[in-house]
Order: sequence, then structure tokens, then C-alpha cells
Amino acid sequence: MRRHCNLSGRCGGCTYANIPYADELLDKRVMEEKLLGRFSDVAPILQSGRITGYRCKVQAVCGMDDGRLVTGIYRKGTHKLIPVRSCPLEDERAGRILETIRSLCTRFGIIAYDEDMGFGDLRHVLIRLAAHNDEALVTLVTASDRLPHEADLAAAIHQKHPFVKGVVSVKNREKTSMVIPENPEMRIIYGKGYITDRLCGLSFRISPVSFYQVNPYMAERLYKIAMNMASLRPDDVAIDAYSGTGTIALIAASYGAGSVIGVESNPEAVRDAVENARMNGLGNVSFVNADASKYMKEAAKRGERCSVLFLDPPRSGATEEFLAAAGRMAPDRIVYISCSPESLQRDLRYIRRFLPYRIRGIQPVDMFPGSEHIETVVLLSRIREKSRKR
Ligand code: SAH
Repeated sequence: MRRHCNLSGRCGGCTYANIPYADELLDKRVMEEKLLGRFSDVAPILQSGRITGYRCKVQAVCGMDDGRLVTGIYRKGTHKLIPVRSCPLEDERAGRILETIRSLCTRFGIIAYDEDMGFGDLRHVLIRLAAHNDEALVTLVTASDRLPHEADLAAAIHQKHPFVKGVVSVKNREKTSMVIPENPEMRIIYGKGYITDRLCGLSFRISPVSFYQVNPYMAERLYKIAMNMASLRPDDVAIDAYSGTGTIALIAASYGAGSVIGVESNPEAVRDAVENARMNGLGNVSFVNADASKYMKEAAKRGERCSVLFLDPPRSGATEEFLAAAGRMAPDRIVYISCSPESLQRDLRYIRRFLPYRIRGIQPVDMFPGSEHIETVVLLSRIREKSRKR
């Protein structure tokens, strides 16, 4: 497979382009061992089946060059735009859509927003693609209320790429590096405001701002590992903390958990999760729109218990408040899915010191070939009183 990229070293997106995959895995293995090896044996990294074209979420910055609209990425740590014509990590459908958008914008006289001058319209283009369905959703992030000729633009995108099922517009007037502001105003220009994908035999609806794994191919394998570790039973009461669109909660319900509660702070993702439960006919799952630490703390205070806890926090990891409350809710098994070995190390150190859990398995999964990132799943089980050493 071709991993060659001319922009490597300039765009900062992938550290390992132009380097053999075996060498990348070796580096990642060394890092996992260094950070997590002290806790337990680290299983060999589950390799990604695809090492190119796996990214189903693409985020392009817009800029101008010689009167033409260009799209690309900011050079790492700067606001300097590097135009990108194609990225080997991205699903090639995204590259085709972006090419069309660039030429249509130039044709319709749509100008990219210039941060320094505070002038122009189009800031970013986000593309979400389903891995198993031929569906894409285009989100245009604009500085103004409406792009000129937006309806014509959206219709022309769909005409050229019929798998684009929706084009939506999100306004972002803020002087911020966040692509989409909090509580965004979203408007559908064409079609529908979401795509649906299939994972582990279930359907998932994904809106522009809800979290969805960038590599759904490996996400499916990751979730299966998590389910095997959890060994769910009908008498299990499970919590899925940081639940996003409800993927883990719903898969757990379909794998036989008695009941599942998902906790997620993004209201849009919670709306998707509720709809996903309905769409898949799963009645034993509910979702709470709350900060995970706050939810756990209050549930523990009410004396609630759970038998299985899944947590899949953002890169910053969990909080001490979350972990302490989790200990009080006394789950029998904890399945921690982490996208940052550094914060995972910190949280495991806390658990080992303050909570009665033993680490039963550490399984790294390479969700992000080419980049320096790696996902890790850890199984912890509660030490029973009678088996505790004095
Ligand atoms: N388990 C899901 C999502 C994991 S990503 C999946 O596999 O698709 C992490 C999620 O945590 C995101 O949806 C993000 O919105 C959410 N999140 C971030 N901070 C949070 C907090 N403090 N409390 C609850 N959810 C939070």
C-alpha cells in the first residue's frame, strides 16, 4: 500500500508517512510498553487492516490563492494554511468532494474567510463519510449568515456526487481556532442533516458535530474487544461514560447487557444516541446529557451501583472525581478505552493506588496508522473482599 506523501513533515498530520508500517508499529509498541508495561503485560498491537484511506472524518481549512479557493490544513502549531490536494489517510471520496467544492466556489465567486482581515465567507469544510454505507455529509462552516448561491452549490455537489446525502451550514463568527463553536446554529441546505453507518450489526446516525470514530473499520474491532472483555450477562447493569452517539452503549445492549445508561455532555450527540436506540429497537438503553464526572458523583451519592463500567473519554482522560465515584459504584468490571496512553497511565496509577481493582488485560489497537496516535483497551476487575491479601 502506498503511504507516500509529499507534504509529510510540513502538514504535521502524520508522523509516519513514508516510513514502513512495521517500523511505525515497533515505535508504538515501545511507547505502550514504556507507559503501560509496569501495570501488566501489554498484548501485541492489533494492526489496522487499512493503513491508507481509513479516515472517514475530514476537516479542511479554506483559504485563497491567486483568486481561487484552496483547501488544506494548518501547519502544526500555526495558522498558516498548507493546501492539500489529496491525503493518503483520508477516504478518497472526501478528496473528490473537496475538489468539486473548490472548483464550484471559484465558479460561484465564494470567497474563503480571512482571519486577519476579518473578510470572506467560507472557513472550513467538514466531510463525514459512512464506512459501510455509501453516504456522505458535507458541513460548510461560514463566517456569514449565508454563502452566496448556497442552494446551487449544494445541489451541484449532490449532482456530481449522489452519495452526498446532505449539505448543512454552520455559522462560526468567533475569533477562535475551534472549527465549530459550542451550541452551533446549524441549517440544512440540502437533503438531510446526518448520515447513517453500520457498526457491529447496528445502525448509527451521525450528525455533523457528534463524535464518531475517524476510523470506523477499526472501531468495529475495538468495540468487539471491549465487549469480549466485558463478558456481558442479562443481569448486568452497565454504564457507558463519554458515550458519544451511543455506539458502545447500544452494542453492549445488543451483546446481552440487562440495561445500559450512556452519559455524554454534547446534547447533539445525545439526540443522535436516543434516535439510534429507537432505530435499532433497543429499549433497555437510556442516555443522560451530563458531565460524566458530575453524573458519576451524584449517582454514587444516591447509592447507585453498576456491574460494568465502560469509559471512553477524550484525550484528557477521566478525572479523579470520576474515578473515585466509579469506585463507590463498585462495578465488577471496568473496560477503559483510551485514545491517549499518557492520560491512561495517569488514571491507571490512580486506580491502582486508591481503588480495589486488578488490571486483567491491556490491548493496544492501531486506529490511526500513519499518525502518532494509538488506542488502548484495558480490562480491570474488582478484587473481591475474601480474595484480598492482608
Ligand atoms: N464512546 C463514543 C465516544 C467517545 S469520544 C464512541 O466510541 O464513539 C468522547 C466523547 O466524550 C465525546 O462524544 C465527547 O463529546 C464526550 N465528552 C467530552 N467531555 C465530556 C464530559 N466531561 N462528560 C461527558 N462526556 C464528555
